[in-house]
Amino acid sequence: MTAVERVRGRRIGVLGMARSGMAVARLAAANGARLLVSDSAGESKLAPQVEELRAAGIPYEVGGHTEALLQCDYLVVSPGVPLGIDILNRARETGLPIFSEIEFASWFCPGRMVAVTGSNGKTTTATLIGELLTAAGYDVHVCGNIGRPFTEAVSAMKPDSWAVVELSSFQLETIADFHPHIACILNLSPDHLDRHGDFESYRAAKYRITENQTADDFLLLNAEDTTLHDSPPETEAAVLWFSTGRNAAAAATVCHDALCVLRNGVLTEVVPVTEIALPGAHNLQNAAAAVLAAALCDVPPAAMARVLKRFSGVEHRLESVGTVAGIRFVNDSKATNVESVTVALRAVSPPVWLILGGRDKGASYTPIAAAGRGKVKGIVAIGEAREKIFHELGREFPVEFADSLPAAVTRCFEMAQPGDTVLLSPGCASFDMFQDFEHRGRVFKEAVESLRDGKTRDETIRR
Ligand code: ADP
Repeated sequence: MTAVERVRGRRIGVLGMARSGMAVARLAAANGARLLVSDSAGESKLAPQVEELRAAGIPYEVGGHTEALLQCDYLVVSPGVPLGIDILNRARETGLPIFSEIEFASWFCPGRMVAVTGSNGKTTTATLIGELLTAAGYDVHVCGNIGRPFTEAVSAMKPDSWAVVELSSFQLETIADFHPHIACILNLSPDHLDRHGDFESYRAAKYRITENQTADDFLLLNAEDTTLHDSPPETEAAVLWFSTGRNAAAAATVCHDALCVLRNGVLTEVVPVTEIALPGAHNLQNAAAAVLAAALCDVPPAAMARVLKRFSGVEHRLESVGTVAGIRFVNDSKATNVESVTVALRAVSPPVWLILGGRDKGASYTPIAAAGRGKVKGIVAIGEAREKIFHELGREFPVEFADSLPAAVTRCFEMAQPGDTVLLSPGCASFDMFQDFEHRGRVFKEAVESLRDGKTRDETIRR
């Protein structure tokens, strides 16, 4: 069945009026669907969406999801809508199909897809794959969980375009026919168990990325990840491993200190590891995954090398903010869990002054003690979690409190010596003090900028 046949004249319920939901509504309406767009938020929060739907004559409901949705032929769910809500439970009971926005968009995708999932590194890797494919002259659309809805991207694509789609496990839970030519699972950590219940169902959701792949497709897996290594998904696709350590025969590997790709029995050096701009061992795994995907798309190694030498990462992920009076500042605001903090501590050069804290997510901070031992000179704790941080890490490191992020930046600057690094890697959610992690990262960078306005460290401190 073509995409248009799946949509024209069909009654489609769209849940969620954020960017993805509205993109679905537009594309479905343009293809002759009979829509009901529904959101649990009130009209006052959805004024622009309501205005657009009204102007387009598209039926909608706000302030809750009603029974009318159950009369639809199927539902399309935005990524922000929890799958356990009452109306979706009832839809499942009655056998009503529920699709993610990703599934819906894939029906309309005229080009080929590279899909990237994993617990950590999705945005970095998807962005890098996008850069590598662009360097080879392809028309590339990086989309999905990364912030640009896949449904928006497909409208701009042509048959020879590539979509690089970042996917969360929630988006994969409600696919049906989604079929990427290249799929990549970066790693699996137990971080998201709060929403999936147990590791088995979390892993099963991630493994669905390959369920529609055939022998003409490729599944890229990380040999360093114990779960993936020991119990990989069953698939018809050709499985290719990338490895930065344990598997020298992998399709992407580190050989003689260079990142290399093995294709059709030929090992090609892509770039010396020391020339890769992305910092940290974890990012070497991301780079290995990305070059393997790019090699499968016939990106020339020289073009890959050029990109890898300049691509230093995505904003708010171990982002270097420069130095002030010889002190380095690093913005890792995206580190919203403890594991990411330990990854960051392994990647940055010591000595480190660590800004930690925000809204606690229930995990223990004690792994930071081992990761930071001998590296972290002191911690400045902010936000709701600061007492707990003091409690759990105060024996290992000096811990001070600050009332705001700018105050924490100033305090670290006062204590640091030239050559030290001030690292914001909060290990917590941001919502106690900020709109989101991007907002938190911007506030950090502004605070560093205002330090820069003072010419020397001592002058800044005196002011
Ligand atoms: P995601 O999109 O999966 O959240 P990002 O690329 O935004 O991933 O990176 C988020 C954080 O995850 C980084 O700041 C880093 O601490 C950590 N991270 C990135 N890549 C990896 C990896 N391959 N293994 C472990 N941790 C990683």
